[in-house]
Amino acid sequence: GAKSRGKGRYEVFDSRMRARTIDRITLTGDLRRALAGGELELHYQPIVSLHRREVSALEALVRWRHPARGLLMPATFIGLAEDNGLIHELGRWIVEEAISSAAAWRRAGTPVLDRLMVGVNVSWRQLAQGTLIEDVGGALADHALDPGAFCVEVTETALMEEPERARTALAQLRAMGVHLGLDDFGTGHSSLSVLRDFDLDMIKLDRSFVAGSGGWAIIHAVREMASSLNLLVVAEGIEEPEQAERVEAIGCDFGQGWLYCRPAAADALAADVVRLEGELRARR
Ligand code: C2E
Ligand code: MG
Ligand code: MG
Ligand code: MG
Repeated sequence: GAKSRGKGRYEVFDSRMRARTIDRITLTGDLRRALAGGELELHYQPIVSLHRREVSALEALVRWRHPARGLLMPATFIGLAEDNGLIHELGRWIVEEAISSAAAWRRAGTPVLDRLMVGVNVSWRQLAQGTLIEDVGGALADHALDPGAFCVEVTETALMEEPERARTALAQLRAMGVHLGLDDFGTGHSSLSVLRDFDLDMIKLDRSFVAGSGGWAIIHAVREMASSLNLLVVAEGIEEPEQAERVEAIGCDFGQGWLYCRPAAADALAADVVRLEGELRARR
């Protein structure tokens, strides 16, 4: 009957919950080891200037090469790291790795990579507490990277969690000369007031607007508003040529997505970016 089916369902739910709890405990221990043992990697995805038809920047995206589970995506461990506090150590590693790589590409004169801005994502917890400002300032100084070649991406939700602390952190980054981007724009609940209250350089329009046919009017409106606020617009998640044509026609400044290039490990990146630049140049 319905009752026993219901009970069965609870049992399934229960054992899944238990499995997930054990999983999180195991992964927490694993993540500590991963940080110490070099299992983390940054992959980089090119951001394309739609006006100049060239690659302008790279977004660093963290990956965890787990010895037993294979390559883990950030969705499986960032939330965990936020909950158990490891996000600060993880974030410090990400900032150091991205800045030292950018500086190394510049020193070596690596084709194309040596002139690209590099951006990282930071979690609200890094804005609210911890050592983000010292980490960024220290890494920029240690590797002698121009702060203008570095960008920090934050989500709107991150800014809403602890707005006053976030504002202080962003003001300190801005004072250093670091660029600031608002990620996943349009998916939160207060996008317009965030644009008014925080001093940002660019907004990254969430890929749901680029993918959905109903999103075009919104992209138009965002483009207009961004122009009047002096913000650059990046369209995220471009997968199809038609989507690229539309966001170009609307006047978005930058595009990012699988159409141009998938995120790539550092050792494969230079070849990917050189190939992409060639394709973009052919379309000028
Ligand atoms: P995000 O910052 O919005 O990054 C864009 C995500 O979209 C990345 O997923 C990227 O691989 C994916 N993507 C890029 N182009 C396309 C496309 O054309 N189609 C589709 N369907 N997806 C595309 P990823 O790497 O799994 O990262 C997911 C999220 O995890 C990021 O979203 C960001 O919020 C977070 N994240 C990634 N790396 C870091 C990090 O180093 N630190 C922190 N705190 N968060 C990170
Ligand atoms: Mg991002
Ligand atoms: Mg994004
Ligand atoms: Mg997004």
